[in-house]
Amino acid sequence: MSKTYDIVIQGAGPVGLACAGWLLQSNPHLHLLLLDKNPSDTQKISNIDQRGIAISEGSKLLLETLLAWPQNSPAIHQVNISQKSAFGRATMTRNEIGQDALGYVVRYSDIYLSLRHSLERAKVNYKNFDWQFNAEIKNIYPHMSLETCLIHAEGGLFQEQIANDQHHDYAQTALVGWIEAPDAPKNQAWERFTSEGPLALLPHHKGPGHLNMVWCAKPHTNLFRMGLPAIELMAELQKAIGSRIGKITQIHDLRTYPLGLNVRTQIVKDNEVWIGNAAQTLHPVAGQGLNLGLRDAATLSGCLTPLVNEPKELRQVSLNLALQKYATLRQSDRKTTIGMTDFMARVFATNLKPVVFFRGIALSSLEWLPPIKKALARQMMFGQR
Ligand SMILES: Cc1cc2nc3c(=O)[nH]c(=O)nc-3n(C[C@H](O)[C@H](O)[C@H](O)COP(=O)(O)OP(=O)(O)OC[C@H]3O[C@@H](n4cnc5c(N)ncnc54)[C@H](O)[C@@H]3O)c2cc1C
Repeated sequence: MSKTYDIVIQGAGPVGLACAGWLLQSNPHLHLLLLDKNPSDTQKISNIDQRGIAISEGSKLLLETLLAWPQNSPAIHQVNISQKSAFGRATMTRNEIGQDALGYVVRYSDIYLSLRHSLERAKVNYKNFDWQFNAEIKNIYPHMSLETCLIHAEGGLFQEQIANDQHHDYAQTALVGWIEAPDAPKNQAWERFTSEGPLALLPHHKGPGHLNMVWCAKPHTNLFRMGLPAIELMAELQKAIGSRIGKITQIHDLRTYPLGLNVRTQIVKDNEVWIGNAAQTLHPVAGQGLNLGLRDAATLSGCLTPLVNEPKELRQVSLNLALQKYATLRQSDRKTTIGMTDFMARVFATNLKPVVFFRGIALSSLEWLPPIKKALARQMMFGQR
């Protein structure tokens, strides 16, 4: 007879790890099982993704509560938005928004490892916490009773996932890597909308003169770019971004990721709940996927916390109520963030003349209407609250 738990989390990516951390922090006696696909020895985990991820101020504050904020995370002080071969440009600075930074850039591997180490350090305080490694258990039901909550945090990339209710292939890939551009202004990010998709250049952990690149385009275009000699690829990139970052001198570590939208409408079913990429996988255009997932995890741990002290006979009813409350609380933030990201991914990947024109107007009006700029920045930084 195997042991049953109050909560089982399937998936120990950043969102599953953070959720475990917050649940245990508030409920040190919680009977929690974390199913982790990776081995316990961090050194043995191969190929942790090194891509730079834009992390909002709101996510930084959340990660700090777990002492899991990676140190080497350059801040973004200014974002420059423009479209290639058309009018319309906007800048957003931290002073306009009244914040220390508009966001930060952190490697996926750094967030993942910081959260893992934070949980490893805290583990000794949680005697009912089981962290199972090399675990990809297809049938977790032996670990569950009627009162067990199963949290799905299996995440994954678009092409690996089963199609959910809202499923759209953008017919784009992201070409990801990093570049050297010694004269690029410090702590600035660029988002440039090109005919095939957005191109983002973001500060890099190696410091000034280095930038993370996320270049979205049709799959065959990016395949072609991957095959180009570095010198020709840099010339293409320079043409796409213009001269404002100075001369690009090196390009490194290229990989591609297929891009799509995959959203589960119903994020709660009986005693199961889906968070992070398991609930919604987004286009990276607005840099919102992980930020939204961390807000899922933080809200869920808040909703589940009061359950632990409930008498066993009331647990099942209380669990259902807590999960319904979670679904209600997440509705607005998910709807806005998913809708805004999907809109941007579609509108900024078309060449239709009227759309290009109105895009230009929209970008320019950001410059003329500071309240809209502020509202947009706050949504990107903290989500819908
Ligand atoms: C090119 C690109 C750029 C991006 N840029 C940004 C950005 O700038 N800002 C941003 O906020 N987001 C960004 N994202 C999105 C971000 O990477 C994801 O939203 C985030 O990684 C989701 O975290 P997660 O923990 O939900 O899922 P994952 O990171 O996918 O982790 C899930 C974990 O669960 C494990 N797992 C899977 N199945 C099982 C199973 N059956 N049992 C046990 N374990 C399992 C997996 O191995 C993995 O370790 C970007 C994505 C891409 C592709």
